[in-house]
Amino acid sequence: MNILEISKEYNTKAKCIAKLEKLRWGNSVICPYCSSKRNRKVKSEIGRHSCKSCKRSFTVLVDTIFESSRLPLPKWFMIIGLVLNAKSGIAAKEIERNIGCSYKTAYYVAMRIRIGMLMPDTKLNGIIEMDESYFGGKARKKHKIPDSDTSIGGETISLKRGRGTNKVSVAGMVQRKGAVHTQVMEKLTKRNLLAMLKHYASKDNSILVTDGFKSYKELETYIDRLEINHSKSFSKGIVHVNTIEGFWSAIKNGIKGSYKAISKKYLPFYLVEFEWKFNHRNFRGNQLDDFLKRAVTHEKELLYWKAESTQEVKEVAYGK
Ligand SMILES: [Zn+2]
Repeated sequence: MNILEISKEYNTKAKCIAKLEKLRWGNSVICPYCSSKRNRKVKSEIGRHSCKSCKRSFTVLVDTIFESSRLPLPKWFMIIGLVLNAKSGIAAKEIERNIGCSYKTAYYVAMRIRIGMLMPDTKLNGIIEMDESYFGGKARKKHKIPDSDTSIGGETISLKRGRGTNKVSVAGMVQRKGAVHTQVMEKLTKRNLLAMLKHYASKDNSILVTDGFKSYKELETYIDRLEINHSKSFSKGIVHVNTIEGFWSAIKNGIKGSYKAISKKYLPFYLVEFEWKFNHRNFRGNQLDDFLKRAVTHEKELLYWKAESTQEVKEVAYGK
C-alpha cells in the first residue's frame, strides 16, 4: 500500500485498532495477561477490554511494538508504510519531515519497526551462497601496521579493507531465489561459520557456493561446496556469489544514503530491516498486513527491544 492509501484507510484510531484486533485475535479477544477469552468491551475507551477472569483491562497494543507509545496510531501506520516502501532505508530526519513528529519519536518508532521486521529462522536449501562483509564508517586508530596504512597527524590510521580490519564483520547466507540470513560475527572462524551454517542450512539436497576464503573450505566437512575463484572470474555458470554480493551492496548503499553511520550495537537491527526487504523482494501480497500481523502476534518483542542482539529478541519472539 502506498502512503496515500494508508492515510485514507487508517485515518482514525478506531480503524487502526480494528485492523490490529482482527490480525491478533480474529473473532475472539484473548486477555494478554491470563489468556482468558472471558472479557467485555470498555465503553469509555476505544479498543479497551476488561478481563472477567483476572480483572485487568487491556488493549490490542499490550506486549507489542506499539505499547506505551503516545504517537497516534494513524501516524504509526504511515511511518510503517514509509519504512516498508523505502527500498534503501529511510532516515529518521526524513520521517520527521514527512509525518510532522519529533526526531526522537521518528527514531524510536523506526527502531521498533525494525524489531517488528524480525522474521523467524528458516532453513535454507538448494544452492546456498555464503559470503562475508565488513561494516564500519571510520577506520580506527591502530598501532604500527605497515604498507596499507597512512599516517595522519602523527597517528596511524588503518586504511585496510576487508578481512583483517577492525570493522564489524557480518556473515551472510542466501538461498538462490530464497531468503537471506545475516549474523554479526566477532571472528570469521571455521567454528563460527559452521555454527551459522548448521543453524540456517539443511545440508541434504543443498550445495554451498563460496569464494576461496580458507574458513569456507573447512565447511566441506558438513556440506558439499563449490568455490569461485575471484582472481580468475566472478561467475562460472551456477558457481557465483552474486546474489549475496547484491544484498551487501544494497545494504551499503542504504547505509551510505540514508543512515550515514551506524553503531556496532545497532547494526543488527538495520541488518534485520534489509533482510526483510530482501526477503520480500518477490512478495506479491499486502506487505503492510504481513508486517502488522507479525507485529501483533509475536508478543513480548517489545520488552526485549533494548536487547543486545537481535538473536535474543528472536529467541523471545519465536522460541529457540
Ligand atoms: Zn485476564
